[in-house]
Amino acid sequence: MAKIIDGKKVSSDVKNKVAQQVLKLKEMYNKVPGLAVVIVGNDPASRVYVNNKKRACDMVGFYSEEYALPEETTQEELMSLIEKLNNKENINGVLVQLPLPKHLNESAVIEAIKPQKDVDAFHASNVGKIMIGEYSFLPCTPAGVMELIKSENIEVEGKNCVVIGRSNIVGKPMAMLLLHNNGTVTICHSKTKNLKEICKSADILVAAVGKPKFVKSDMVKEGAVVIDVGMNRDENGKLCGDVDFKEVEPISSYITPVPGGVGPMTVAMLMKNTLTAFKIQNHI
Ligand code: NAP
Repeated sequence: MAKIIDGKKVSSDVKNKVAQQVLKLKEMYNKVPGLAVVIVGNDPASRVYVNNKKRACDMVGFYSEEYALPEETTQEELMSLIEKLNNKENINGVLVQLPLPKHLNESAVIEAIKPQKDVDAFHASNVGKIMIGEYSFLPCTPAGVMELIKSENIEVEGKNCVVIGRSNIVGKPMAMLLLHNNGTVTICHSKTKNLKEICKSADILVAAVGKPKFVKSDMVKEGAVVIDVGMNRDENGKLCGDVDFKEVEPISSYITPVPGGVGPMTVAMLMKNTLTAFKIQNHI
């Protein structure tokens, strides 16, 4: 039986630490970190994520602003808002909720955010810094996974780590963080041959596929650490991960549940990044 890694508890520990630091900063400098969240259109999932972010800001004591723009917002309007936020002194982090409506150029929007305020760490300059291991911010979801791994004192060094998925926001940075922690890393994707065998060689298996219950017990080595990044709906509309929890849990040593695993970590790491942005911008 696996130990279930409690993402709710670890995320709440991270947020509490941020909140304590915010109190101290307020006392010393009479200001607090500020985060602006921009949402365009009416995607219900995005709306939920933005509400969670706002709630987390309130919980840790940040100042926050929300810009809910209509679906028909033009590229120029969005770019001009970003420029305004880049120059606002009380805003230390700017986050544009993705995905954007189809008519908007997502990468141009990401590149328009000042790298020092790019608390999602999606800007090419921040991505490049992650590659060379000299980063200020890490993308929130992979950083959250590393925090979960650390919370259980799981050793990464020398371990075979397999990441399923190579997206820019999860798979690739995830692999890079495991590599920085001296893991021996393999990245799998939809064109990978022998996926089952490769996954079965993993001491640490991270699933970021976006397919409900994709990872079955015959893909997992006895005693492996299994991290499930997936957030999907099953055939009954119930939230589920990329891992078939029922099958995989009995053979793994540690496993993250969905919900309550990686999900809550993403927002907690966003709070941590915004605090870091505030400190950098204020030379603290
Ligand atoms: P994505 O951009 O759709 O990437 C999925 C990756 O899985 C791609 O690299 C794809 O390969 C690979 N893949 C698809 N089918 C495969 C197969 N049959 N065998 C092997 N690899 C396969 O998704 P994402 O944005 O990385 O997100 C992945 C999951 O994490 C989703 O469920 C998403 O909802 C969830 N997520 C959760 C959080 C959180 O806070 N917990 C945050 C972000 C994302 P190709 O590159 O070859 O197409």
